[in-house]
Amino acid sequence: MNDFKMPTDAGRPSGSLEVVCGPMFSGKSEELIRRMKRVQISGKKFVIFKPSIDTRYDATHVVSHDQRKLEAVITGIDADAIEEIRRIIIEKNPEVVAFDEIWMYDDGIVDFVLECVRQGRRVVAAGLDTDFRGEPFPNMSRLLAHADFVDKLKAICIKCKDREAVMTQRLIDGMPAKYGDPTIVVGAAEMYEARCRECHQIER
Ligand code: ADP
Ligand code: ZN
Repeated sequence: MNDFKMPTDAGRPSGSLEVVCGPMFSGKSEELIRRMKRVQISGKKFVIFKPSIDTRYDATHVVSHDQRKLEAVITGIDADAIEEIRRIIIEKNPEVVAFDEIWMYDDGIVDFVLECVRQGRRVVAAGLDTDFRGEPFPNMSRLLAHADFVDKLKAICIKCKDREAVMTQRLIDGMPAKYGDPTIVVGAAEMYEARCRECHQIER
């Protein structure tokens, strides 16, 4: 009856995938930094990757909104960038690999993450689960389906200051963004806020 064997019985270390998701300001980067600082203390080899587009605060570190930071390798987001990440992993052979804002990468990132897990590495992937419309980022949906551990973090809704925020509100010149708005609105002052479902606004 009981023929099932845990993967670790195969004689190699078992990798794992941890996904940390939620809206902006929910503490994803903070949580990634906390986990990786503990890896650092334990003396394990690790590498943190972060897309170059997200260099709002620092071009060489992962930085949380409250200024905690840890050194990161800054990469592009296309298929070539994933090949570059693969080369770095082969060269450094880290036990633990972390990605911040993983939803920004090319679709190939999901297979690459699973490849790392099959090699026995621990992967920590942090990022937004949904866009400003409240719709899932496809890469994130797939990663969540494959994850061994999932943490969905919440922020505080900045509008009602009462409920927890599960969504990211996009404002363009102070007004809620429209459903069909392009990702970049030239010349507009753009802003993001954490909001609960009730306070989240999207113009159709
Ligand atoms: P994320 O990576 O999810 O965008 P960060 O880890 O960078 O979040 O930042 C989390 C920190 O942001 C919190 O610890 C808090 O200091 C700050 N913060 C700012 N606005 C909010 C909010 N609306 N709700 C919760 N935390 C907030
Ligand atoms: Zn609210």
